Amino acid sequence: MTDFKRDGSHLAYCPPVEKWDDWVELDPEAWPRRVEKHYQLVPTVCFNCESACGLLAYVDKATGEVAKFEGNPMHPASRGRLCAKGPATINQIHDPDRVLYPMKRVGARGDGKWARTTWDEVLETFAARIRKAIQEGRGEEVMYHVGRPGHDFIMERTLQAWGIDGHNSHTNVCSSSARLGYLLWHYADRPSPDHANSRFILLLSAHLESGHYFNPHAQRIIDGKMAGAKLAVMDPRLSNTASMADYWMPTYPGTEAAVLLAMAKVILDENRFDADFMRKWTNWEELEVDGFKAQGQSFETAIQALRKHYARFTPQFAEKESGVKAETIVRIAREIAAAGTRFASHLWRGSASGNLGGWQPARALTLLHVLTGSVGTEGGHNPNAWNKFVPKPFKVPPPQKRWNELLYPPEWPLCTHEMSFLLPHFLKEGRGKIETYFTRVVNPVWTYPDGFSWIEMLRDEEKIGLHAALTPTWSETAWFADYVLPMGFSSERHDLMSQESYAGKWIGFRQPVNRVLRERSGEKFEYTYQANPGEVWEEDEFWINLSWAIDPDGSMGIRQYFESPNQPGKKLTVDEYYGWIFDHSVPGLPDAAKKEGLTPLQYMRKYGAYEVTRDVYKQNEKALSSEELADSQTESNGVIKKNGKPVGVKIGDAAVVGYNTPSRKLELFSKTMADWKWPEFALPEYYRSHIHRGARAASIGEATEEFDPNYAPAVEWPEHARGNVYTLLPIFRLPNLIHTRSGNAKYLYEISHKNPLWINPVDARTLNVRTGDLMKVHTEIGYFVLHAWVTEGLTPGVVACSHHLGRWRINKDEQVERMSSAWVDLKEVGKGQWKMRQLESVSPYQSPDPETKRVWWSDAGVHQDITFPVHPDPVSGMHCWHQMVRVQKADADDRYGDIFVDTNRSFEVYQRWKALTRPAPGPGGLRRPLWIPRVVRPEESAFYMK
Ligand code: SF4
Repeated sequence: MTDFKRDGSHLAYCPPVEKWDDWVELDPEAWPRRVEKHYQLVPTVCFNCESACGLLAYVDKATGEVAKFEGNPMHPASRGRLCAKGPATINQIHDPDRVLYPMKRVGARGDGKWARTTWDEVLETFAARIRKAIQEGRGEEVMYHVGRPGHDFIMERTLQAWGIDGHNSHTNVCSSSARLGYLLWHYADRPSPDHANSRFILLLSAHLESGHYFNPHAQRIIDGKMAGAKLAVMDPRLSNTASMADYWMPTYPGTEAAVLLAMAKVILDENRFDADFMRKWTNWEELEVDGFKAQGQSFETAIQALRKHYARFTPQFAEKESGVKAETIVRIAREIAAAGTRFASHLWRGSASGNLGGWQPARALTLLHVLTGSVGTEGGHNPNAWNKFVPKPFKVPPPQKRWNELLYPPEWPLCTHEMSFLLPHFLKEGRGKIETYFTRVVNPVWTYPDGFSWIEMLRDEEKIGLHAALTPTWSETAWFADYVLPMGFSSERHDLMSQESYAGKWIGFRQPVNRVLRERSGEKFEYTYQANPGEVWEEDEFWINLSWAIDPDGSMGIRQYFESPNQPGKKLTVDEYYGWIFDHSVPGLPDAAKKEGLTPLQYMRKYGAYEVTRDVYKQNEKALSSEELADSQTESNGVIKKNGKPVGVKIGDAAVVGYNTPSRKLELFSKTMADWKWPEFALPEYYRSHIHRGARAASIGEATEEFDPNYAPAVEWPEHARGNVYTLLPIFRLPNLIHTRSGNAKYLYEISHKNPLWINPVDARTLNVRTGDLMKVHTEIGYFVLHAWVTEGLTPGVVACSHHLGRWRINKDEQVERMSSAWVDLKEVGKGQWKMRQLESVSPYQSPDPETKRVWWSDAGVHQDITFPVHPDPVSGMHCWHQMVRVQKADADDRYGDIFVDTNRSFEVYQRWKALTRPAPGPGGLRRPLWIPRVVRPEESAFYMK
C-alpha cells in the first residue's frame, strides 16, 4: 500500500478534500435511473473501539441527515480504511431503540422502569451530592468508572480539578497483565510494533481481525508481508489471523512464556544475540541470579549466568509444556534472530489476559526484542509512549492528595490499573461505600466476570448511594442505575485521541457532525445536545457543566479549571478547550493551519486528524540538554539524577535520556520485583498457570507434582458439577462486535449473533457430542447452557466461546435492543443464588425502521461471563479469564441460555485468589513503586502508607 500522504493521494478513489463540500454520488436506491445525490463530508473519529480510526460522515444535503460513514483518507493511522464496525455507526445513530433523553428510574432499583427527566435536574442532583462529599472530606466516595474512554486526558483533568481519587477503569479485565510485563522492561506499558518495516512478525494476538489498534495494525502487517516479512502466530485457536500466517503455533494456553524463553535460549546458546545492544542498553550489571552477582564482573560472565539460568527451557521442555514442536521453536527463534533489529511483535489479550502469570509472556516476548536489539528501531518494537501524542490543555490541576484503597488496595501493589472487577467484593468486605457512582460506557454486569455480585452491589442503596449510567446504548448495568444519561456516538461528540498505531505520532479529532455543519451555516448552539438527536449529550460539556454546578461561585477552587482561558469567569466552551490545545500544544499544527489560511481549530475541524511527527525511533538515545544536565549528579552506575530522581544515563561519554526505569536502561533484572517480595520473578520467567494440566489433575484429585498451591489456587467444584474437565477460552473477540455498543447495530448483529461452544472432534468423540447439541458448562460458581460447535480450529483439551454475545433485558415493556437481546426471567432463588432463563429471544418487530421487520435471526447468544468467578492475578491484579470447566451434555430440564450462579461461592473463590498476594507496604512504607505509572496519579506523599 502507498503510505499515508497529507494530501490524501494515497487513496485515489476516496473523495478528495476539495470536493468534501459537495460530493456527488449516484443514488443506489434509484438504480437503474441515474439520480445524483449531493453530500457534504465531515470528518470525525470512530468510537467503536480504541483504534480511533478516521470516519467521514456523508451528510445528505437534501435532508441534513447522515446517510453513511466511510473512511477518512486524511487520517494518518487508518488511511481511509475501516473495519465493519466503523460504517456500522450509521446503525447506532439511527437505531429506533436508542436512549434519546436523560432518564430517571421510577420504582425500585432494578425494576427496569424509567421516566424522562431534564439535564438541569440531573446536574443539580449530582452536583449537590458531590459538593457535600468533597466538603465533608469524603471525596473518595465519588467514583467515575470508565469502559471505553475514547478520549485522552480530559477526565484525569476533571477529577484532579475536583481533588478526588476517583478514577476507575475496565483495564484490569482487559490488558493489565500485558501492561505489567512490558512496563517492567521499559516503563511504557504497551508495545508499538513497526510492522510495516519489519522482516519477521510474531503475534500472540489476532491482529489481522481484532484487538487493540487492529485495523491500523492489520494494514501495516500486510504492508510488512507484502515487502517480504514472515508472520508467525501463537494462539490455541485457529483465528483468521493464524490462518494468514506462515507459522501457526497452537500452544496449550498459559504455556506461551515457556516457548518464548526456549526461543531466547536458542538465541543465547547459538550466539545470535546483539551483544553490543545488550551491553549498552540493559541493566545486566545489576543481574543477581542463582547465587551469581554481575556487579564487578564481565558482560560475558553475565551472559554465561543467563545461559545457565535458562538452561531448563530446552525446546523439548517447551514442546512438552505447550504442544508446539521443538523444531518449530528452534526454526522461529533463528528467523527472529536473523530479522535482528527488524523483528516486530504484539501481545495484548489472549495469553496475557487469560492466564495467571499472564504478564510473563509479555516480559519473555520483550526479552526476544532485547536479545535482537529490536527496541526502538525501524521495523522493531517501540515503547507506546514514543508513538502516542497526548497534548496538554491549559491550566492543569495539581495532583490529588488522597489515595483511594477501593481502587488501589494494598494486596496488589504492582497492579497497573484499578482493581475494578473486585469492587463488589471490596464493598462486601466493608472496605468502604460509594456515595455517587458514574458508570461511563462500561457495562460491568455483562462484560465483567461475576456479574451477579455486581447486581447485588448495584441494587444495594447502602453500598451505592446514587448511580448514573452514562451510555450511548442500553446496557445490563443501566437496568440497575438511578439515571440513564444518553451520550453520543462517533458523530455526536467531541474528543481528542491518539494511539500508537505505527511509527509516528498523530492526533484525531472527533466532532459532532450536525452541530459542526449547522454552525458552519450560521446557527449557534450553546450545547451539543441541542444539535444532536433527542437530547443526546457529550461528556465534555456534561463535566464542564457539572463542575460549575458543584462549585457555582468558584469558592471550592474547582470552577477555575472550567472557565474560559480567554475570558476568565466565563464558562469554558469546547471550542475554547480544544482551540487552546491546538494553538499551544501540538507542534507544527499552527503552521500547517496557517499555510491554508485556517486557525488550528478550523484545520482540525476540516481534516479530523493531524500527523505530528515521524521522528520516533531511538528516543532513548536523545542527548540531555545542558539545561537538563544543570545541577545533576552521575552515580557510579551511570544513572544521572536531578533532585534525587533519575533523568538520564551515561552511555560511554554521552549523557542521554534512556528509558524511564530506575536504571534508565531496559530492566533485564527487575530490582522492583525483588524489592516487592517477588524475588523469584526478578528475571523473565515461566510458571504454571491456574489452568495448567497439573492444576487440572489436582482439581479432580489426581496425584501430580506439576501443581504448586503457592502460585495457583485450588479449584473446588460445586457439588452439582459433572462432566469432563476442559480449559475454557472465553475471551476471543468476534471481529465485528463491540462489547455492549454493537447491541444497536443491525448490520453487525446480522453477521454475528451466536456464540456456540467450540469443541475439538477428539473431545467431541469423548463427550459423544455433535454440532448443535445442547451442552452444560459448569464453572466454579455456576453453569451456562449453550450449543456445541465441533471444529478442528482449536487445540484438543480446550473449549472456547466468544464474548460480545448473550445480551439480555429484564423488562419486556421497555422496548430496548430488541434485535440483540433476549428477554429473560431473572430470579434470586436463594440468598446469593441466581437463575436466569430466556423467555423470548430475537424476532422481527415493528419500529420506525422498516428493516426491523426483516430481522431473520432468532438468537442473542448466551451470557457466559456472568458465570465466571473473579481470578485476580496475585502480581498484576489482572482478572485471569481462562478457567477450568466441567463440560457435559445438558440435562433434560435445561434450556438454551439457562444460567445459574451462587455468589457465596464466588466470594470464596475471591478469597482463595487473594490469599496468594504479597501485599504492600514495600520499601520505605510505599503502597506501590513510585516509578510505576498510576492513572490519575496522586501527589507523592499519598504513595506512603500511614
Ligand atoms: S478498527 Fe474498526 S471499530 Fe476500531 S476504530 Fe477502526 S473502524 Fe472503528
